[in-house]
Amino acid sequence: MAFDMEEQFSEECVDSGIHEECGVFGAYDFDGNDIASTVYYGLFALQHRGQESCGIAVSDTNGPKKNIQVHKGMGLVNEVFNSENLEKLKGNISVGHVRYSTAGSSTRENAQPLVLNYYKGTLALAHNGNLVNALELRQELERTGAIFQTTIDSEVIAYHVAKERIFAATAEEAVLAAMRKLKGAYSLIVMSPRKLIGARDPFGFRPLCIGKRDNTYFLTSETCALDTVGAEFVRDVEPGEVVTLTPKGIESNKELCFKDPSKQARCIFEYIYFARPDAVIDGVGVYASRIKAGKFLAMDSPVDADMVVGVPESGNPAAQGYAMESGIPYGTAFIKNSYVGRTFIKPKQSMRESSVQVKLNVLKDAVKGKRIVMIDDSIVRGTTCRRIVRMLKDAGAKEVHVRISSPPFLHPCYFGTDIPSEDQLVAYGKTLDEICESIEADTLAYLHMDRLKELNEGLPYCDACFSGNYPIEPPTQDIRGEQG
Ligand code: SF4
Repeated sequence: MAFDMEEQFSEECVDSGIHEECGVFGAYDFDGNDIASTVYYGLFALQHRGQESCGIAVSDTNGPKKNIQVHKGMGLVNEVFNSENLEKLKGNISVGHVRYSTAGSSTRENAQPLVLNYYKGTLALAHNGNLVNALELRQELERTGAIFQTTIDSEVIAYHVAKERIFAATAEEAVLAAMRKLKGAYSLIVMSPRKLIGARDPFGFRPLCIGKRDNTYFLTSETCALDTVGAEFVRDVEPGEVVTLTPKGIESNKELCFKDPSKQARCIFEYIYFARPDAVIDGVGVYASRIKAGKFLAMDSPVDADMVVGVPESGNPAAQGYAMESGIPYGTAFIKNSYVGRTFIKPKQSMRESSVQVKLNVLKDAVKGKRIVMIDDSIVRGTTCRRIVRMLKDAGAKEVHVRISSPPFLHPCYFGTDIPSEDQLVAYGKTLDEICESIEADTLAYLHMDRLKELNEGLPYCDACFSGNYPIEPPTQDIRGEQG
């Protein structure tokens, strides 16, 4: 991704320098009722996973086969959809998507779901993740005459599914055949004229689960979206599994699941930061993981202080955990302006105001004269963290001790997260003291690497951005954000 200085600065948001990747939500009402408005509420619950663009595609399983309607655009769910355009989306099977671009630029063409009209019919596809072999697959298709309309790797997946569908007996077999060629992170929802198909890569980088409400079935990135639409959680889609929802029930194919589940590699950062705290991923509650991270920080890196505070919102549960374990009172130091939207004009670096100050303010009375333990989920470039430490000190805090509920970021991510290259990471090539000095804190400690395994109750996980141990060989060419 190309960064200029101003953009580099403004890209650091208050919660973290990291952006979420994407969220997917699909629904199939077997009674034939229109479903788009339910998908709209589902996407609302997944808005934290992507704020650049969103879309919904619907079809009527009792209508003509080549009739998928789609509405998508740039912006938040409530900016792109209104009662008028939702009303026009008629059909009982649907797939929706919220996007933050980790591959491909931020344009309307790249918004999802993608709808493909091809020889055998139509399909709509929503994807969360990043492929590491997207470039090879794309070139392979281009050599056979394929013309791409977008710059996203999701279109490569859609093309492969469509291509495989020509020879496959069913849509789910085509998805499975396409998956054999894909390398990388993907949680997919594919809508064919009569079926809703969910698939998760064998490593299980990104979450995907199934829900049910009366005679309607759902597929979604996070369980919190099921709660929002009043659906019950049925189960997670297993890493490598393909599930097919039809009125006959849920069919499952586990041919691509690893025989040895220890090869699975769930993104540990979903638990630390991405997912909403009320989500449960593969049986592990995200909120409980974050509380645990805070407790471990208190055990491993104690400090004498008067108050523990979290950097909103994602630092709060870990701060509560730290307070519980240490006995230091938990308090509120920051008031966040929740109304700063996507269209917020970010101040230039030369201006006195910073993005951080516009989004966060310090409660001076709460911090004045106190020794503060400040908990955040991560430090990326260090700019935001330094500004927040300064804000606390300017407000009269006597000491600021920073505790981070993840290990230091030392390597980029190729699996759907925009963790940048080493030269942009504050921790890369620096000692702990040097990082501490650069963020102007009194002391600094990170979560220890060996604590990660305790955050998701022993499920196999990916920690490549901290350790450099990539579960899949990274691409030789860094295609993140540059495809096409
Ligand atoms: S490299 Fe980091 S952010 Fe990327 S999938 Fe692995 S744990 Fe998640």
